[in-house]
Amino acid sequence: MKVCKFGGSSVASAAQIKKVIDIVVSDPDRRVVVVSAPGKRFAGDEKVTDMLISCAARTLAGEDAVESVERVVSRFDSIRRELGLPEDLMENVRSGLAKRLASSKRSPAAFTDGVKALGEEFSARFCAAAFCAAGHAAVYADPREAGMLLSEEFGNAQLLPESPELLSKYLLSQSGIVVFPGFFGYTRAGQVVTFSRGGSDITGAILAAAVSADVYENFTDVDSVYPVDPRIVPEVKEGISEMTYREMRELSYAGFGVFHDEAVMPAIRAEIPINIRNTNRPDEPGTMVLPRRRTIQGRVLGLACAAGFGTLYVSKYMMNREVGFVSKLLGILADEGISFESIPAGVDNVSVIMRDELFRPGVRERIMERIGRELQTDEVSYEAGLAVIMAVGEGMRCTVGVGERIWGALSRAGVNVQMINQGSSEISMMFGIREEDLVKAVRALYDELFANDPYAGKRLTNV
Ligand code: ASP
Repeated sequence: MKVCKFGGSSVASAAQIKKVIDIVVSDPDRRVVVVSAPGKRFAGDEKVTDMLISCAARTLAGEDAVESVERVVSRFDSIRRELGLPEDLMENVRSGLAKRLASSKRSPAAFTDGVKALGEEFSARFCAAAFCAAGHAAVYADPREAGMLLSEEFGNAQLLPESPELLSKYLLSQSGIVVFPGFFGYTRAGQVVTFSRGGSDITGAILAAAVSADVYENFTDVDSVYPVDPRIVPEVKEGISEMTYREMRELSYAGFGVFHDEAVMPAIRAEIPINIRNTNRPDEPGTMVLPRRRTIQGRVLGLACAAGFGTLYVSKYMMNREVGFVSKLLGILADEGISFESIPAGVDNVSVIMRDELFRPGVRERIMERIGRELQTDEVSYEAGLAVIMAVGEGMRCTVGVGERIWGALSRAGVNVQMINQGSSEISMMFGIREEDLVKAVRALYDELFANDPYAGKRLTNV
């Protein structure tokens, strides 16, 4: 059985929903379909979830929400008309909205969740109706009846332990296509509660794990995940055909990737292969994310990069002999609520790489003064404007020479490497450079590592 999740852009209009239907019915294994609320149809368009959040906010503020409500209604009505679905579906939209907007406002977070979940609910009801209208047996799955039980953390719910078994029983007992709304479930007390934003991915991953799906297909609007950011290297053609969960984690570290890696955790725990695919180009095989895969020694799979980092530099003579020095340093940062990314260290010095936005001017000076005083350091300084490039690949493990290729390409491009750190898993290497060198560096690395890669776009696992 395959569980497929279609994101907001895949159900943004009637034309998109028709593509979803074609994709699903072209493979009888595609039995569980998770949908988001309608997303943007074009740049500048508004997502239904955002419209609903503004309905809830206006209502909570005691303002008139009529106009926001009408925007939601007319968005669904245009989808309904173009799909040729019966008018009475709109009755459900209007009354559903009115009921939720009139519900208790004692907990604003609970109230907002009730309203914003409606985007997925209506979307799934409309999609189920569209499947039926096209002659395919399909049902709308009510998450409450299906057993999607979640914690009472409104806007950030977690799955309750008894839920997977209930979901599995429900899903396996259905015949035909089950259309499941993403993003929300119910508390034990029967209240609607949502995951964090983008949470339909979580629903899909939970369902894929619950039925031990052969694959979790995550349909979005890109062909695959690319080895470098196509905005920096537009000529990159071949996407990544397959990667391991670990590679995905490392790559998504610096803001890379199509989905939020946390969202697919349930599928990863259950070792379900994840296939990222494009609704608009269903013949493309997309990117497979797998527990394990065959690798080619020395091959780098992808580069992630991001700007917006800074380095906190701390030095103290004989630091290496002082038991607990780094732990005290990190203790101070933890105390101040600052997380770090990496801590390359020398004999008498240590650098803490962190996101610049966390180490704001004003707060920064006070923390640095504290470090100097409490740790009796020789120097504490901070430099912003750092960009980080991560080279990732299982094939980098136990291989000589990858660092040299990267290093060589960067030095030929005239990029000064300020920091280098190899993760202990040996499947990633992190380079710190100046932000202004980022584009130049990524282009140079693309030319060196990917422009002539004979394995680009090839799947090796099934060889
Ligand atoms: N519609 C929700 C959001 O916009 C959830 C999702 O699309 O995954 O965050």
